[in-house]
Amino acid sequence: MRPLSILGSTGSIGTQALQVVRQLQQADTGKVSIAGLAAGSNAELLIAQAREFCPRVVAVGDAGKYSQVKAALADLPIEVCCGEEGLIHVATLPEVQTVLAAIVGFAGLKPTMAAIEASKDIALANKETLVVAGHLFTDAVRQRGVQLLPVDSEHNAIYQCLVGESLGSVHRLLLTASGGPFRGYTGAQLATVTRAQALRHPNWEMGAKITIDSASLMNKCLEVIEARWLFDIPVDRIDIVVHPQSIVHSLVEFVDGSLKAQLGMPDMRVPIQYALTWPQRVPAPWPRFDFTRYPQLTFETPDAASFRSVGYARHVLEQKGNMPCILNAANEVAVELFLQERIEFTRIYDLIEQAMTHVTHIPEPSLEELLQTDAETRTLLQARAVTS
Ligand code: NDP
Repeated sequence: MRPLSILGSTGSIGTQALQVVRQLQQADTGKVSIAGLAAGSNAELLIAQAREFCPRVVAVGDAGKYSQVKAALADLPIEVCCGEEGLIHVATLPEVQTVLAAIVGFAGLKPTMAAIEASKDIALANKETLVVAGHLFTDAVRQRGVQLLPVDSEHNAIYQCLVGESLGSVHRLLLTASGGPFRGYTGAQLATVTRAQALRHPNWEMGAKITIDSASLMNKCLEVIEARWLFDIPVDRIDIVVHPQSIVHSLVEFVDGSLKAQLGMPDMRVPIQYALTWPQRVPAPWPRFDFTRYPQLTFETPDAASFRSVGYARHVLEQKGNMPCILNAANEVAVELFLQERIEFTRIYDLIEQAMTHVTHIPEPSLEELLQTDAETRTLLQARAVTS
């Protein structure tokens, strides 16, 4: 049995991971058990998950929900905890071998870092942690000798393409992007899109934040940074290719001109299962790819003029230090403001660019300084959003 903790069990990735675990347990193939579950504030779902999977520990991030969860699980031998300490407790349980990091955004950073420090293997969905703290994160992974398995479909695809290959033979990585619901829009058209339109992704069902990131192509920007750290490759050897069908999940081009791609249905349960059962592949019952339903797979260059985010990854990686952290915090604030219908869509780019210009640059930030950068960026942008 591989005991697992899931951080963010109530989200889109968390719930799909539990579908995978349920299936593996029923088929008796994957040998995965649930030791810990952690969520933010969805107490009802967390309670239902705990009653089904009977983990040893459950954490609810929102301390106000502690009594509700505790009372609902009183008849079961489950320890209930809360707040950031609770999340870290679930991330570092002694019996846990693998932690699925699936909290959204910067909130996932501390528990995921704590899991690495406790020598847990990491199945990483929470790309923001690598964006914010790529150097600290990868140093800690190396020092602790833990496995880092990407769950993000593009990075999982690249990971699969690299099996049996050496990084030295890689010419470049090609990250595919669906283009989102606004593919082909001009900058002027983008300025008028609504929250409801932005939340309607053509191919994937995901949490709200990543769905908006996909619409603005900020998701691809974050993924370029994620790939830079995961595969230790310079940003000028990572390209974005728009592929509206989301069947080719990404590609690796090797020095001899050969390309390897990983294909499959747009279904996150596939990369989640790969990460949870690695190095084994085990059967899965999810819908399969059918060539007759996809007679054409097409590829385009991203529109960097309308989707200004396309150029941000290279900029922040060249600036180094806390610049990716500033980018991430600014994007989190801007997406939240857009979801609250307080700013128009293209203001997301404006606020990110303002933050990158005005927040204090730190060349070699510690974890503490990254926390300060995150706070400084949020304060600056909240003030600007109110005054603009
Ligand atoms: P969701 O918004 O659906 O879920 C987020 C999860 O994080 C929920 O369980 C939520 O708990 C929890 N959470 C949020 N804030 C906190 C907090 N402060 N403390 C503790 N828990 C918190 O997001 P997704 O599942 O879509 O995405 C999760 C991560 O995976 C993101 O980083 C995303 O970029 C990445 N990812 C997602 C993909 C997808 O298909 N969804 C694909 C590839 C990557 P609660 O709901 O209880 O408040």
